[in-house]
Amino acid sequence: MTLAKAYAATSPTSGLEPTKLDRREPGPDDIEIAIEFCGLCHSDVHATRGEWGGNTYPLTPGHEIVGKVSRVGSAVTSFAVGDSVGVGCMVDSCRECENCQAGLEQYCDKGMTGTYGARDKRNGGVITQGGYASSIVVDQNYVLKVPVGLDPAAAAPLLCAGITTYSPLRHLGITAGDAVGVVGLGGLGHMAVKLAKAMGASVTVFTTSAAKAGDARNLGADAVVVSRDEAQMSAAKNTLNAVIDTVAAHHDLNPYLATLKRDGALVQLGLPSGDLPPVNAGPLIRKRLSYGGSLIGGIAETQEMLDFCAEHQVQSEVEVVSATQLNEAYDRMVAGDVKYRFVLDTATL
Ligand code: NAP
Ligand code: ZN
Ligand code: ZN
Repeated sequence: MTLAKAYAATSPTSGLEPTKLDRREPGPDDIEIAIEFCGLCHSDVHATRGEWGGNTYPLTPGHEIVGKVSRVGSAVTSFAVGDSVGVGCMVDSCRECENCQAGLEQYCDKGMTGTYGARDKRNGGVITQGGYASSIVVDQNYVLKVPVGLDPAAAAPLLCAGITTYSPLRHLGITAGDAVGVVGLGGLGHMAVKLAKAMGASVTVFTTSAAKAGDARNLGADAVVVSRDEAQMSAAKNTLNAVIDTVAAHHDLNPYLATLKRDGALVQLGLPSGDLPPVNAGPLIRKRLSYGGSLIGGIAETQEMLDFCAEHQVQSEVEVVSATQLNEAYDRMVAGDVKYRFVLDTATL
């Protein structure tokens, strides 16, 4: 065992406090990573505050991990000490089911093993603990290579916000000439803007925050719609091929279906607790629309996304925070005050 410095919540209302974690000794297939940076995802807020239920505490969140390999197991051949690596939202899956075999481990029939708060079946059933920590030990099959040329702090959010938006854009076949809407300009939303632009699409940002309009354009958006302004929403009707909805709170999706052209698709990524208002079937039928969801991305696709980001110089806009600022950063995220991803510098733990 190695003791790692970390921050953890001890209950839904405790906030994050300093703690120590036991990390296992690396087995033959394991990679020990000295974590440098870990992004703060809104899912971390939902999970630590018990908004999705079913948590065990203490809970160290964090699934946007970038660091350097510090030790490798005897069977590890494609990673070496000193390599820059990343870990996203999962650290294991069954590896045998149809989805794992297809490289879509996030949809594992037996349930992927999340980077935090999940029972680690291959390692004695301990509960996994995430990346707000000085180190982590992960099976080599779930570790990503961070390409040269990406800044480690700005690359960390790619491991969740990046892949979660890249995967549905690719699945929809977004390409030059397509018109993509992005709802919510936060961590996921700003990555969706950058990635859709890098794929050649034109992008319309829908935001509740009129003050973000300038930033949206600087990030590459071709148009900005303040979603609380009915005239602006009305003008956006029938203009888009796809809408990526990243909002972390309850809201009505039907006005966004109205912005789609025939055969358009709305992909929901945000997962607030409880049910959203229902989607009306009428508009789906009358314009042959699709309404769906998407969960992060598989390991191979995550590597593909990192390589795409290095090639197209796509990185996250980050505000680096110290460990003592974590709770304040959560409150700011809930208030929509994030530009556009908080990233923990683990040197401050
Ligand atoms: P975030 O950085 O907090 O951004 C969410 C954005 O939603 C806000 O910046 C805000 O943008 C907009 N928003 C509108 N109304 C809001 C309200 N009442 N409260 C909060 N935000 C509001 O969150 P994120 O990290 O991008 O995550 C977004 C959601 O995706 C979360 O529910 C998260 O759990 C989920 N998620 C899903 C997956 C997946 O695999 N499907 C992966 C990661 C995260 P404007 O100011 O522009 O309106
Ligand atoms: Zn996440
Ligand atoms: Zn599986």
